[in-house]
Amino acid sequence: MDYEAVIGIECHVELKTRTKMFCDSLNDPDEKHPNVNVCPICLGHPGTLPTINKAAVEKVILVGLALHAEIPEYSQFDRKNYFYPDLPKGYQISQYEHPLVKGGYLEFKSADGAVRHIRITRVHLEEDTGRLMHQGSPSTSSGRPTSLVDFNRAGIPLMELVTEPDVRSAEEARRFGEELQLIIRYTGASDADMEKGQMRVEANVSIRPKGSKELGTKVELKNINSFRFVEKAVLYEIARQTKLLEEGGKVIQETRGWDSVREVTFSQRIKEGATDYRYFPEPDLPPLLVDQKWLASIRAKLTELPWQKRVRFASEYGLDDATSEVFIREPKLAEFFEEVVSELEEWIASMGDRVIKSKAIKLASNYITSDLQKLRNETGALVDEMNITAENFAELMALVYENKISSAAAKQVLGEMFKTGGDPAQIIETKNLTQESGESALQNTVLELIDAHKDIAEQVRSGKNPNAIQALIGAGMKKTQGKANPAVLRRLFEENLNLKRI
Ligand code: ADP
Ligand code: MG
Repeated sequence: MDYEAVIGIECHVELKTRTKMFCDSLNDPDEKHPNVNVCPICLGHPGTLPTINKAAVEKVILVGLALHAEIPEYSQFDRKNYFYPDLPKGYQISQYEHPLVKGGYLEFKSADGAVRHIRITRVHLEEDTGRLMHQGSPSTSSGRPTSLVDFNRAGIPLMELVTEPDVRSAEEARRFGEELQLIIRYTGASDADMEKGQMRVEANVSIRPKGSKELGTKVELKNINSFRFVEKAVLYEIARQTKLLEEGGKVIQETRGWDSVREVTFSQRIKEGATDYRYFPEPDLPPLLVDQKWLASIRAKLTELPWQKRVRFASEYGLDDATSEVFIREPKLAEFFEEVVSELEEWIASMGDRVIKSKAIKLASNYITSDLQKLRNETGALVDEMNITAENFAELMALVYENKISSAAAKQVLGEMFKTGGDPAQIIETKNLTQESGESALQNTVLELIDAHKDIAEQVRSGKNPNAIQALIGAGMKKTQGKANPAVLRRLFEENLNLKRI
């Protein structure tokens, strides 16, 4: 029998706000010293009262708007009651029946190019828990296992997003997560770094016979800290469930973790009916009313979103999907590219017919996404930390476009600009890198090389091995320290060896 996978995603995101969700303790996920960003409110002392963090509410609404969702006027906080040592109050303030955001959808392109449409069920706001650290018995003086708790994270605003079971494959689960992360970053709601636990993805996975409308029993996958592992864990789980059913077994509803070393999922706990959290409206907080005026002011803060940028980059710059995606994933780099283009536009205008605009833009986007990215990867430099200015970068592109320097020399200049922030014209001057396209300047070099490499030259001349001309051109580039224009070199070799231009 053929089975299909049915997957629903739940995602938690720590919001980037100055203070915590219900008090003015700092929201600093990088704080290493335990229990410094705490106060009686987030420590759950009796008699204290929470206050709603407006910035956190606005960030969740922004994400909701970016997901084409409805923002109900009435929303409410509820108590979710349970006991755990990382939860000082004995309950978590969350939202149950009246979340901040309802409905909406997220679209992305899957590997086969099809547009996938995933419906969002809801997005709500809650608070994070503290962090437990367990120490094994041998390391403690009493010889008993000990657990430590750090409440710096307790009360940090946490956004929870839930989707309908619309995802159909492991690859789609990963793509959904990646696209959601982009949207969250674009809205400024969070840096949503998976490795840092700022974004946590849970996948609910079930399978059913193809064509069936009923849902199978689902398994909830937790503890996945990268998108690659989301894909691997779901893939593993689909295979495990398929095998189980094929062997006449049954999937049991449970929570499974991901073991990234053995690359398997493993049972963590069996779900026996719904846990009773005894949700009830938080008596210490009034209902949250989002009126039209407030909503409009939040909507006004929405900037360009990933899919809008994709459409604009394709139409404005004619970039192919893969190149465009490099910019979509790193808006700061996109900003740099657009600055370079606007610098180039002045030069293009001054050059009239001698420059094809789309070709110049393509040249710049290629140099940024390949050579510049390579330099950045080697040094780990953020876009903001680069010494290179858009103006100088554009100047270099103009020089390459006009064939004033070879591409080998351009790489050298770029490396130097990246290091020192210098001006390309100056670097070329000091390093004597101007391209020798002038035939007379290269003619002697070519004759010398034919003389020095008689064997190779003969192989080319006789037509025995025409490709050997590459070796001659290479020798010419070496001799001129990369300054020669390879196309001119080729022509000169061909002429001097009495060959027609190929
Ligand atoms: P729970 O009560 O266990 O939290 P929910 O109904 O709230 O379950 O759903 C949680 C998530 O699991 C949602 O993303 C939902 O789309 C998804 N989901 C629910 N049932 C299934 C199923 N049978 N197979 C796959 N995903 C499911
Ligand atoms: Mg649920």
